[in-house]
Amino acid sequence: MSDWDIAIKRGVEHNVPRVFKVLREHPYLEDLARKVREGKLEVLSNLDHYIEMTMKSVEMIGGKAYFVENAEQAREIVGKIVGSGKRVVMGKSMVAYETGIRKYLQSIGNEVWETDLGELLIQFADEPPSHIIAPAVHMTRERIRELIKEKLGIDPGDKHEDIVRVAREFLRQKFLTADIGITGANAVAADAGSIVLVENEGNIRMSSVVPPVHISITGVEKILPNLEYAMYEVLVQAAYAGLYPPTYINVTSGPSSTGDVEQKRVSPAHGPKEFHLILVDNGRRKANEDPVLREALLCIRCGRCHFHCPVYRALDGKWGDPPYSGPMGAMWSGVVYNDYKPALLCSHAGNCREVCPMKINIPKVLEYLKSKYFMMKAGTREG
Ligand code: SF4
Repeated sequence: MSDWDIAIKRGVEHNVPRVFKVLREHPYLEDLARKVREGKLEVLSNLDHYIEMTMKSVEMIGGKAYFVENAEQAREIVGKIVGSGKRVVMGKSMVAYETGIRKYLQSIGNEVWETDLGELLIQFADEPPSHIIAPAVHMTRERIRELIKEKLGIDPGDKHEDIVRVAREFLRQKFLTADIGITGANAVAADAGSIVLVENEGNIRMSSVVPPVHISITGVEKILPNLEYAMYEVLVQAAYAGLYPPTYINVTSGPSSTGDVEQKRVSPAHGPKEFHLILVDNGRRKANEDPVLREALLCIRCGRCHFHCPVYRALDGKWGDPPYSGPMGAMWSGVVYNDYKPALLCSHAGNCREVCPMKINIPKVLEYLKSKYFMMKAGTREG
């Protein structure tokens, strides 16, 4: 058995029964998933309006909002806010990976650390993620032990708990001395300008509260009409990822403040003095104009389709353009990288559609991308 076979077998055995158990024990989650789909469709049917509303709401609560069309513009804005010579901690963000933020900030003289354990491991190994919520799922604990020994000079031993302890001790000082925290967002509430993040490690809470500046970078498809829908989204995402009830839900609405002296609101208080939200297009609005590809924008990144897909399981985690992988990654490679080739590998088993909380007809989207690929190859029309 290869390392991948061992690692994915262990990952599937831990994840799949856990998600079924969560859904059995909390039957209201399927209703919430339906509501999230409705909320996302409402935003997608009037996307520019909701982008504008979100940006105004962020400014109203003392934050700064930016809309960027592509990865280059995203790097430029983040580079201007961060500058150089800073220590940066990153909460897990696929859009930061998509836009190349970590490597760019390192290239202009910053010390940058991923703080999600899986992301830290792939940073150590300088490898792409193999799963959207478990980026180091391809690594066995034996390999992780060797990697930590090599990078930190400490042998954590063979137990999961000790590996986690060594990473925790390494990152603690980084959190406490960071100048900037960068996170993504699971959901953005258009009416309130709030971002909502769900997690189990506590690294996102540390990255978004301890450093004096918090930058959130996320795709425009994460916008929901209001904070109520945004809260539903994170509950559903956590449940279908198998992490329910969620350990932490972080709602951030602008910089920190206090009203404790005569009720006059003063900012900052204990948390960040600056909050920046960067909304990234990078192909999403174009996909939204296409009635088939629009379905891909409903994805809430739960990662469930991966574990049920025979192609993903057979392919060493290397299906799709990183950070997007698996069935959702084959769709998203088309959305943000105009790469339709990953869709060719879909065998149309259909399990992904059955387990997707957003009821995305993933095989249909992939069939459509296959046809776009062949039309592009044949030069009959632009892909
Ligand atoms: S496509 Fe569906 S199952 Fe797959 S990650 Fe997205 S929401 Fe989850």
